[in-house]
Amino acid sequence: MDKKMRIWQGDITTLKVDAIVNAANKSLLGGGGVDGAIHKAAGPELLQATKKLGGAETGEAKITKGYKLPAHFVIHTVGPVYKDGKSGEAQLLEDCYKNALVLAEKHHLETVAFSAISTGVYGYPLTEATKIAVSTIKNRLLDMKSIKEVIFVVFDDSLKEVYEKTFEHLGI
Ligand code: ADP
Repeated sequence: MDKKMRIWQGDITTLKVDAIVNAANKSLLGGGGVDGAIHKAAGPELLQATKKLGGAETGEAKITKGYKLPAHFVIHTVGPVYKDGKSGEAQLLEDCYKNALVLAEKHHLETVAFSAISTGVYGYPLTEATKIAVSTIKNRLLDMKSIKEVIFVVFDDSLKEVYEKTFEHLGI
């Protein structure tokens, strides 16, 4: 089966896909950045739903419906706060992508759009975060039965370039 990975620049809340992946915080109750934008666009029902999830640990992923979003589902994952690169950040960031993918597969989803987890307020260096994002998905996508397309959503021009270079390096 044909599997696709692509880069798309813009606001993730506008995407009509099966699931968008939110860079949430441990409370799962909303926050700034992409998390705030997703909660705002999905409406108050999303907060009602996430309140029932009881938070999440770093690297974990949990799913809700998308409510007023064009996306059917939101997968909420908690990225690591970048400290010094020696505090398990890489493994935790990989866990975010892996666990979100597994959850999407479990729900038989076909199209999944990822925000660039931990690259905003959580301060992960862009090149390293992007390498982890793209290689984690690339290495697992073929084993996923339902998932046909993964979209890497970038907001800023600087991150778009980093993703394009990473795609090149990995021969995508
Ligand atoms: P984190 O706390 O995990 O770093 P942020 O929300 O601060 O999460 O940033 C994660 C990434 O999401 C950043 O690259 C940021 O530019 C991007 N971002 C912010 N708003 C949006 C949006 N509406 N759609 C897509 N990406 C967004």
